[in-house]
Amino acid sequence: MTFRSPVAEYEFLLKHVAGYDRIAATDRFADATADVVSAILTEAGKMCDGVMAPLQRDGDLTPARLENGVLRTSPGFADGYKAIAEGGWIGISAPEEYGGMGLPLTLATAVNEMMAGACLSLQLAPLMSQGQIEALEHHASDALKELYLPKLISGEWSGTMNLTEPQAGSDVGALSSKAVANGDGTYAVTGQKIFISWGDNDFCENVCHLVLARLPDGVPGTKGISLFLVPKYLPDADGNPGKANDLKVVSLEHKMGLHGSPTCVMQYDGATGWLVGKEHGGMAAMFTMMNNARLGVGGQGVGAGEGAYQQALAYALERKQGKSASGVIADHADVRRMLMEMKADLFAARAILLACAQAIDMQTATGDAGWAARAAFLTPIAKAFGTDTGIRVAETGVQVHGGMGFIEETGAAQFYRDVRVTAIYEGTNGIQAMDLVARKMMDGGEAAFALIEEIEEQAERARASHPNMAEAVWQACESLREATEWLVAQQDLQDRFAGAVPFLKAFARVLGGHYHLAAAMADPGGAREKLARFYINRMLPEHAGLLAHAQAGAEGAFALSLDELAG
Ligand SMILES: Cc1cc2nc3c(=O)[nH]c(=O)nc-3n(C[C@H](O)[C@H](O)[C@H](O)COP(=O)(O)OP(=O)(O)OC[C@H]3O[C@@H](n4cnc5c(N)ncnc54)[C@H](O)[C@@H]3O)c2cc1C
Repeated sequence: MTFRSPVAEYEFLLKHVAGYDRIAATDRFADATADVVSAILTEAGKMCDGVMAPLQRDGDLTPARLENGVLRTSPGFADGYKAIAEGGWIGISAPEEYGGMGLPLTLATAVNEMMAGACLSLQLAPLMSQGQIEALEHHASDALKELYLPKLISGEWSGTMNLTEPQAGSDVGALSSKAVANGDGTYAVTGQKIFISWGDNDFCENVCHLVLARLPDGVPGTKGISLFLVPKYLPDADGNPGKANDLKVVSLEHKMGLHGSPTCVMQYDGATGWLVGKEHGGMAAMFTMMNNARLGVGGQGVGAGEGAYQQALAYALERKQGKSASGVIADHADVRRMLMEMKADLFAARAILLACAQAIDMQTATGDAGWAARAAFLTPIAKAFGTDTGIRVAETGVQVHGGMGFIEETGAAQFYRDVRVTAIYEGTNGIQAMDLVARKMMDGGEAAFALIEEIEEQAERARASHPNMAEAVWQACESLREATEWLVAQQDLQDRFAGAVPFLKAFARVLGGHYHLAAAMADPGGAREKLARFYINRMLPEHAGLLAHAQAGAEGAFALSLDELAG
C-alpha cells in the first residue's frame, strides 16, 4: 500500500489548533520557526513514505529471528534504520551539544507519528533510543553523557528499556534483578528481563540497555530500585565497542503482531553496568524515560491508525458493491460513517498528542509549574486515547474491507495486529487511567480544572460564529467539570479506579470537541468545519454515558463475587 505522511494535517494543527506559535515565541525555541517546521515535516515525510513504508509488510512476513544466538532483523530494516539515523530523526529534540537538533518535542512527536504510520515495528527502535537519550540527559553523570549521548543520537548505538520480569509487569516494584558494586565505580547486574523491545539488532555497533535492578541494601518495592546502563559491548579506552558484556538474548517472543520488532528475553549474568541517577532512585530516572515513551506510544497509536485509515479509504474508493451514488462502497451511508469516525477520531487524538507535547515544550522553555502540571495530566490521556483510537480505527479499517479485511494480503489486518499492543505496553491503558484519577489529581484536580476553564473560554468565543457546536462543547464540558468534582471528592481510591477508564475516555472526548471546534473556527465553510460538526454532533455525545459510568463507584464493579463471575 502507498502511505502518505500527513504533513499538511500537521501544518494545519500546529498553526491553528496546537498553538505552536507560543513555542516558537520562546527564547529556547526561537529558531524553530514555521518555515523550519514545514521543511522538517516535508523531509521526514519523504523518508517515511519512500523508505519506511515499503518495509511494513516485510517486517510482518519475515520477522526478526535468532540464529545461533545472533539476532537477524527483517529484510530491509538495516537500510531503513540507516535512513532514520542519517536523517537525524532520532535526535530531533535531543540537545545540540551532543549532536541533536535541539528542536521542540512537538516536532519530534509529529515526525515519530509519521514514522509509526509508515512502519510501526521499525519505528519502535528509535523511539526506545529517544527515551534513553532523555533519561541519560537528565540523570546520568557527565562522563556517561559524553560517551553515550553522541552515539545514541547519531544512531550508531541504540537504546532499550528493561523493566519487565515474569513476576513484575505492571507491578514493577516486584522485580528481582540484582546489582552489586564492583568496587571500581561499576556494578555487576544479574537477572532475567522479558518482553524487551529491540533487545538486540544487527545494524548498530552497540546496544545500550537501561536496566532496573535492586542493590543489596535496596528496600522491597519501587523505592529500593536503581537504574543501570548496561551496554552489549563494553566501551574501550577510546569509547569504541570493546569486550562483549555478560548478557545475551535468550529467546524471542512469538507475537500477535509487530513481528518486525524483536521482543527479547534478556539474561544478565553479572553484566557490567553504570549507575544512572542516585542509588535507589531508579524509578525517578526511569519515569523520565517512560513519560517520553508514553507520549511516543500514543503517537504510535495515531500513526498506525492513520495508515489503517488511508488503506481503508483507498479500498472503499475502489470496491464496487450494491447501488450507491458512485457505485463504490465509499458512497454507502454506513461506510461513510465508518470513514468519518476514523478521520474525526484521528484528528482528536492527534490534537491531544500535540497539546501534551506543547505543554512539555513550554515547561522546558519557561520552567513554569502550570505547564508541567498540564504535561503530567495530559500524558496518560495522550497515551491511552492515542492508542485506543489507533486500535479502534484499525479495527474499523478491517470492517471497511469486508471479507478482504480478514485476509492477510490486504494488510488491513496487520495494522490491527500491530497496533494492539500499544494499549498494553508502556503501562496498560487501565494503569494510565488510574494514574490520571489518582496521582494526576493529587493537586485537587487543579490541572484538570485549568483545562476545563480553557475549553469553556474557547466555547464562549465560538458562540458568535458556531453557536450550536459551541453550546454542545460547553455543555459537555460542564458535565465533565461535575464529574471531575465528584472524582476529586472520593476519598476511597477504589471508587475513582472503578470509573477511571471511562473518565479518561470522556475527558478525551471533550478535549476532542474542543480541538475540533478550534479547527472549525479556523476553516469556516471548509472540510475541517464539516468534520468538526460530525464529531461534535455524533461522537461527542458519547461523553454522557462515559461520565455516568465514571461516577458509579466501585460497589457495582465488585457486585458479583469471584464465584459468581465464574458461574
Ligand atoms: C510486544 C511487547 C513489547 C514490550 N516491550 C517492553 C520493553 O521494551 N521493556 C519492558 O520493560 N517491558 C516491555 N513490555 C512489557 C509491558 O510493558 C508489560 O506487558 C505491561 O507493562 C503489562 O505487564 P504484564 O504483561 O505483566 O501484565 P499484568 O501486569 O499482569 O496486567 C494484566 C492485567 O491486569 C491489570 N492490572 C495489573 N495491575 C493492576 C492494578 N494494580 N490495578 C488495576 N489493574 C491492574 C492490567 O491493566 C492488565 O489489564 C512489552 C510487552 C509486549 C507485549
